[in-house]
Amino acid sequence: MSTVYDLSFDELSSRVVALGEPSFRARQVWRQLWERGVPYERMADVPRELRGRLAASIPVGIEVLAVREADRGATRKALLRVGGEHVVETVLMGYRGRVTVCVSSQVGCAMGCGFCATGQMGLRNNLTAGEIVAQVVWARGAAAELPATTPRRLTNVVFMGMGEPLSNERHTFAALERITDPGALGIGDRHITMSTVGVVPGIERLGERFPQVGLAVSLHASTDELRDELVPVNRLWPLAVLEDAVAAWRERTHRRPSIEWAMIDRTNDSEEQAERLVPIALRLHAHVNLIPLNPTPGWPTAPSSKSAIGRFVAVLEDAGVAVTVRDTRGREIEAACGQLYHELEPTVSAG
Ligand code: SAH
Ligand code: SF4
Repeated sequence: MSTVYDLSFDELSSRVVALGEPSFRARQVWRQLWERGVPYERMADVPRELRGRLAASIPVGIEVLAVREADRGATRKALLRVGGEHVVETVLMGYRGRVTVCVSSQVGCAMGCGFCATGQMGLRNNLTAGEIVAQVVWARGAAAELPATTPRRLTNVVFMGMGEPLSNERHTFAALERITDPGALGIGDRHITMSTVGVVPGIERLGERFPQVGLAVSLHASTDELRDELVPVNRLWPLAVLEDAVAAWRERTHRRPSIEWAMIDRTNDSEEQAERLVPIALRLHAHVNLIPLNPTPGWPTAPSSKSAIGRFVAVLEDAGVAVTVRDTRGREIEAACGQLYHELEPTVSAG
């Protein structure tokens, strides 16, 4: 399945012409879909009868199944059906100076990180480029309804929703092209961040093709022994290999990567893990983000205690590593990816 956002302008044009319409209509429809994100039924400059035919023959492919609000409306988590089939989570977060959408790249994930709600599902489907872009289009519309304390305009995109974007590389990269294309969504590369569990060939190609796009690496452990357990893909690309790939990415892009670290009670929150993280973070000039674990039904483990987090932070800071502990909202959102899906799954068809 796909959405109208999978079509290039030429493809859309020939579909519109095939409906017996002049080609200028295609330009009208494209502008509204991409520049304003309006669905056919609200395209005021398109005749009403044609709107119905467009909807029937070229579905937009974005259905909002549920929206949950938090942080007094500044955070919105949506369950969307994209492309008529695939159900994904998309989260919009409004801050004082920016509005960020967290998009999904797959339904489920094959990487098998046990603490992750999405990993617990296994991989169900890759999303197409248009299905990824459709989430950004939803977010752009939803941004207008955010509280006045935010810019009310979508400014940033992070690939931190369901799925491993670099194991759906072809569609992820095609989505990046569309998100950044000034004739499509026009969001600057520097306002986009790719989060990966450490798919090494994908990191190399991301740096080559999109050197301005930011990189976040979900490390979670600083020894292979522990990382093999928490992040099974470490057996394929162990720490030394991953570190080299991120170092090469940094040399190429001159950008500072982030290291993501879910703080899991008495698992990866020891001072020893922090001490071993220090040389990695320093070598990569990385910013470390600590995310207290968001407990999931399939993983009977708790987030780290405040004191363990405090000790971990102290080790990093004393060594000169830049570190941030995510606030509750960051935790609720970034960490909870896949959870709304689980909650509502019995009522939706996952495709
Ligand atoms: N597959 C990519 C992107 C999606 S996950 C990746 O792993 O990076 C986005 C972030 O949420 C990752 O850093 C991931 O490790 C983290 N995460 C997943 N489940 C979590 C949980 N239960 N608690 C805290 N962080 C979690
Ligand atoms: Fe997949 Fe990322 Fe979850 Fe691991 S943390 S299972 S890579 S979505």
